[in-house]
Amino acid sequence: MELEDWIKNILSYPERTVKVHIPVKMDNGEVQVFVGYRCQYNAALGPYKGGIRYSPEVDEDEVVALAQWMTFKCALVDIPFGGAKGGVRVDPKKLSKSELERLTRRFTYEIVPVIGPYIDIPAPDVYTNDDVMAWIMDTYSIIKGYNEPAVVTGKPTYIGGSKGRKEATGRGVAISTREVLKLYGEDIKGKTVAIQGFGNVAVFAALILQDWGARIVAVSDSKGGIYNPDGLDVRDLIKHVYGSEEVNGKKKSVVSYAGGEQISNEDLLLLDVDILIPCAIENQITEENADKIKARYIVEGANGPTTFEADEILFKKGIIVVPDILANSGGVIVSYLEWVQDRMGYYWEEDEVNEKLEKKLINAIKEVFHTLKEYEKKGKKIDWRTAAYILSIERIAKVYRKRGLFP
Ligand code: NAD
Repeated sequence: MELEDWIKNILSYPERTVKVHIPVKMDNGEVQVFVGYRCQYNAALGPYKGGIRYSPEVDEDEVVALAQWMTFKCALVDIPFGGAKGGVRVDPKKLSKSELERLTRRFTYEIVPVIGPYIDIPAPDVYTNDDVMAWIMDTYSIIKGYNEPAVVTGKPTYIGGSKGRKEATGRGVAISTREVLKLYGEDIKGKTVAIQGFGNVAVFAALILQDWGARIVAVSDSKGGIYNPDGLDVRDLIKHVYGSEEVNGKKKSVVSYAGGEQISNEDLLLLDVDILIPCAIENQITEENADKIKARYIVEGANGPTTFEADEILFKKGIIVVPDILANSGGVIVSYLEWVQDRMGYYWEEDEVNEKLEKKLINAIKEVFHTLKEYEKKGKKIDWRTAAYILSIERIAKVYRKRGLFP
């Protein structure tokens, strides 16, 4: 893309990474000190935006990489946010709810100087949820002395969250699938789909695609997968796994569902389907299995499910890979809409939120496709991921060229 060296240099480093030590009084009276980070990668387009995760694997490298991803994701879907990510190195499964609350409140206190609705707006990520977002919002508001819902997104609707946020990432995955197929002259109706995972992203992607006439033949979780060539009844499966129609608090594995035969996660990836949608964890499609994949389209619901080496193999095979920063951007788009509603103090109905999400996402999909075609015209055949990065980086570069560099 012939990016100027000075912009490339700037985008190669995070602007700021804050490291904090968080003392927490545990239920047994002991004090444990946890380490936490907030990486603010780039704010050329607007306030930093990105999730906070609680996991034993959190370290500086991880938050920096994830914050860079957020920078490109926000730019790609044209929302006025930069990129950030935060995390605390902790195994949240070993903490009681009150310990988690004290950890969250103290972590918030430590990062208050660098967050805020015009500075940096956190959101949920791995092992953080709307409880954690409510505690962050409450702690920040108490410190400031006024109610500030716009400091975090992913809150419950009754304290300033947006309708449609919970379904947003899965909805975005479904829209990306339908629209990319449309660009290649295909209809989603009747297509067979295998989905790895059955968590937040996978469930809503499966439900919506099924409602649009696709046949969901396989899903999975960490215990394994379930396969039915005639199509799974996604609503019935949700009731089995979550104990009700509410996608909240998993009760059982999909493996124990009677409406299909058991398969492994590895077999699921290799099924003879039209569309494969990884919605679980990273590094699932690798140089070991990429050559054996039969799906014609891969839509990345998860972050980073395809390795760099696998990408090249898939490209040579002519498989269309819709990259994560595009396919799973529905979540951050609705987070943006949540922030807008909080700042206005006026809240939209779900239809309106969904309509705005769809418009933003379809625009981005069309622009990535246009970029791809423009490069083809120049004799350079590129994949969807490269086109998405070009479009996103170009958007940030354009801002740098105009704003210049301080001082
Ligand atoms: P989740 O925890 O709700 O669901 C994850 C699913 O993956 C579960 O069904 C789990 O059983 C399964 N899983 C875990 N380990 C597995 C393994 N080894 N093999 C197969 N399946 C396994 O999480 P989620 O929110 O649905 O997120 C899924 C992916 O989507 C992650 O990569 C996340 O970063 C990404 N993502 C999520 C959002 C969002 O808004 N939730 C937004 C953007 C990207």
